[in-house]
Amino acid sequence: MKNKVPFFNLKEEILKKIKKSGGWANTHAHFDRSFTITPKTFKLYNSLLKDKWLLVDEIKRKSSVSNIYDRMAQSIELMLSQGVSVVGTFIDVDDVVEDRAIKAADKVREKYKKDIKIKYINQVLKGVLEPKARQWFNVGAEFVDILGGLPGKDKGREAEHIDVILDTAKKMNKMVHIHVDQLNTAMEKETELLVQKTIQHKMQGKVVGVHGISIAAHPKAYREKLYKSMVKNGVMMVSCPIAWIDNARTDELAPTHNAITPVDEMVPAGVTVSLGTDNIRDLYLPLSDGEMWPELRLIIGACRYTDVDQLVKIATVNGRKVLGIK
Ligand SMILES: [Zn+2]
Repeated sequence: MKNKVPFFNLKEEILKKIKKSGGWANTHAHFDRSFTITPKTFKLYNSLLKDKWLLVDEIKRKSSVSNIYDRMAQSIELMLSQGVSVVGTFIDVDDVVEDRAIKAADKVREKYKKDIKIKYINQVLKGVLEPKARQWFNVGAEFVDILGGLPGKDKGREAEHIDVILDTAKKMNKMVHIHVDQLNTAMEKETELLVQKTIQHKMQGKVVGVHGISIAAHPKAYREKLYKSMVKNGVMMVSCPIAWIDNARTDELAPTHNAITPVDEMVPAGVTVSLGTDNIRDLYLPLSDGEMWPELRLIIGACRYTDVDQLVKIATVNGRKVLGIK
């Protein structure tokens, strides 16, 4: 439709600035499982997160290197079509998919090396504490650029889970990206734990949390104290707005908020926040198209956040920092 009435076209303004700043940075994804949704698995959309960690086993077991390559390549093409210049994607490495995603990822990087900078991060859907899980974690850690974590998978032993990852990352001189506070409940304090562990392992400036939804379920004084400790210790946060805005209703009482990383509080407090699409059209997020603008738009809307320059940074330079790209 052609515009007859001149107006402040926020989208156009922001897209222009993003281009000028070197293009989009998509800092969180799971490209190895993109486009795997089927009519049967769509019915499982409302399953609990901890159940989804197992429900994807069937897809992983059946996936060949070439299946995974195709999904990843299609995801990269989707990124390129939007002007994404750097991307960080998790890949599964465990006893179900074994090293097939590693093999596919290697080929994808080779094929697209001139077009886009890709950083790989290992997903640990089986945790890191059981012996078999640890073996595959070690295999993944060798291959990837950044070590990935999922403390919720080792429920009750979250601190040990983070210890294993930070210990290994320190030895390998790699950054870490850890899924934290995903369930939108004040029962979770994983970002707080991540900051404590960052201090303990002296990993300041190398640690990134992913999601941080539950932070907004805590009282203001808790949130402000947490942001201060994140800034002091260089703990950064990836926001994937569409990923958790569909958070299921509960009767738990909490300060009213939208189920999104509290970007409007974190950025003014000094926390480095970046943007990610998370899963694309799979069992976790059947509705997510992997498009960057709707993700950024949702930060503006769900956080009522209007600082255009900071929004551009979230979409570009902050992402490069979070992925360790100079
Ligand atoms: Zn994730």
